[in-house]
Amino acid sequence: MSLSIDLGPAPIRAPARISLPAEKPHLVGLGREALAQALEKAGVPAKQVRMRTAQIWHWLYVRGVSDFSAMRNISKDLREKLISEFDISRPEIVEEQISVDGTRKWLLRYPPRGAGRPVEVEAVYIPEKGRGTLCVSSQVGCTLTCTFCHTGTQRMVRNLTAGEIVGQLLIARDRLGDFPAHDTPDGAIVPGEGRLVSNVVMMGMGEPLYNYDNVRDALAVVSDGDGLAISKRRITLSTSGVVPMIRPTGEEMGVGLAISLHAVRNDLRDILVPINRKYPLEQLLEACRTYPGASNARRITFEYVMLKDVNDSDEEARELVRLLKGIPAKINLIPFNPWPGSNYGCSDWDRIERFAAIVNEAGYASPIRTPRGRDILAACGQLKSESERMKKTERMAAGAAA
Ligand code: SAH
Ligand code: SF4
Repeated sequence: MSLSIDLGPAPIRAPARISLPAEKPHLVGLGREALAQALEKAGVPAKQVRMRTAQIWHWLYVRGVSDFSAMRNISKDLREKLISEFDISRPEIVEEQISVDGTRKWLLRYPPRGAGRPVEVEAVYIPEKGRGTLCVSSQVGCTLTCTFCHTGTQRMVRNLTAGEIVGQLLIARDRLGDFPAHDTPDGAIVPGEGRLVSNVVMMGMGEPLYNYDNVRDALAVVSDGDGLAISKRRITLSTSGVVPMIRPTGEEMGVGLAISLHAVRNDLRDILVPINRKYPLEQLLEACRTYPGASNARRITFEYVMLKDVNDSDEEARELVRLLKGIPAKINLIPFNPWPGSNYGCSDWDRIERFAAIVNEAGYASPIRTPRGRDILAACGQLKSESERMKKTERMAAGAAA
């Protein structure tokens, strides 16, 4: 995901609007148990709670409704009560961009929480043959400061709630037509295998393992078989290497693991991925070796960004293969996606191919990740930074006019 030349359609930008503070508790992102408790607290009779929970769950996650009025099998009185007590609205789509290659990117705005301000994050949809992957954000900004990553230069604002994380998938399914039309007869539901979003990767903005509880709760909702139904085998969580949380991720979430490795020596990784100073390579690889559920059928992905003259030598490719010995691994070589002000360049194509050939010879297949959505800058942190730049320009224009 990099560079830009192609002319995609002009982005649709929603006018800035002042969001009112979210007063009502949001139901999206609650587990079934928490949803049942919320309903009971709101006065739904105890003997109805189970049935109402199942109905609301179905409307929210199978049919994708964002309005209680559409929940036809719930009595009018109860619907009105639900409307007055709870929120099930979507985040606001500030901007939607569609690449000539079909990649889509949304800039989403969430209302303020408490005394905070509205926040914006991005989600990216990447269609592929026979499947489609949604790249989801877990935080607004990131506390970590990986030197090649644009998100790392942005201020960490806050963690997203489980509902805000799930909301990204709901928006993608809305916009792609992945939910059945609300007025179709019951039963006319898009079958799982026909869905455009078939896979989810936690690879957007933020470090998911620094927002562990919310990501865990969100992924439980996303993988619920009677709801959004994305199987845990089709969910991958990417971490820069928060070692103590890796085992719990396997045990509690049971999703696929990706590691942002990017360097094979501690001295270099300390610079590229500074969390390495806290959890060095030896500890990280040991956590991978013992990751619950990893097997040859469920390999751990190692992401390796190709930085010109920094980490792209033949020697490093050989060292990478040596380091991963004994770990059921696959390797993703990611061409570096430059951003304004970055101090790195992307390795030349023949260098990437040579690096890939060494990795291939060791038995790792087709490891170069094809850049997608070039024309809409569909890469980690880029949409957000575009919008921040725009705001700065708008501010300057306003200043000049005053
Ligand atoms: N914080 C998590 C997940 C989000 S980043 C993590 O670091 O794993 C998702 C992936 O994009 C990571 O592998 C990250 O290293 C990579 N990435 C970040 N900036 C990039 C850039 N400019 N070019 C290519 N890959 C980048
Ligand atoms: Fe944060 Fe991941 Fe970017 Fe590092 S690569 S700054 S952990 S989002």
